[in-house]
Amino acid sequence: MSHDLYGEILLDHYRLPRNHGRLENPTITVEGTNPLCGDELTLDLEFTGDHLTNISFSGRGCAISVAATSMLTELLKGKTIHEIEEWTGNFRTFIREGKAPDGVDMGDIQSLAGVAQLPVRVKCATLPWTTLEQGLVRYKGT
Ligand code: ZN
Repeated sequence: MSHDLYGEILLDHYRLPRNHGRLENPTITVEGTNPLCGDELTLDLEFTGDHLTNISFSGRGCAISVAATSMLTELLKGKTIHEIEEWTGNFRTFIREGKAPDGVDMGDIQSLAGVAQLPVRVKCATLPWTTLEQGLVRYKGT
């Protein structure tokens, strides 16, 4: 696939972010910031048992952080906490190495591969994942 296509997927998530807005009754609301870029993110998480049954996001951020968050919500909505932790590991490998772990299909997230080569942008793409991790820690502590 060409870089142009990756760019289109990224821009599509930026222009039409999935799961954008607020939930009425979130189980956990968690905020994250990336001071290097000025990204501010709020995640509303709704858990049922060990499933993330709903997720939405709001805030302001650059194209990469908004697109990365949109992709995360699309991928993880409905997943179990265990699956989310596995995907978090996959994403960290992906953003560190610029390619998916063997045998893993990153889906739209693959469009962020170029970001892995831009150290100042890595934190933009990682922000939703670190923010979600904080939310998981809080949920497990409740
Ligand atoms: Zn950013």
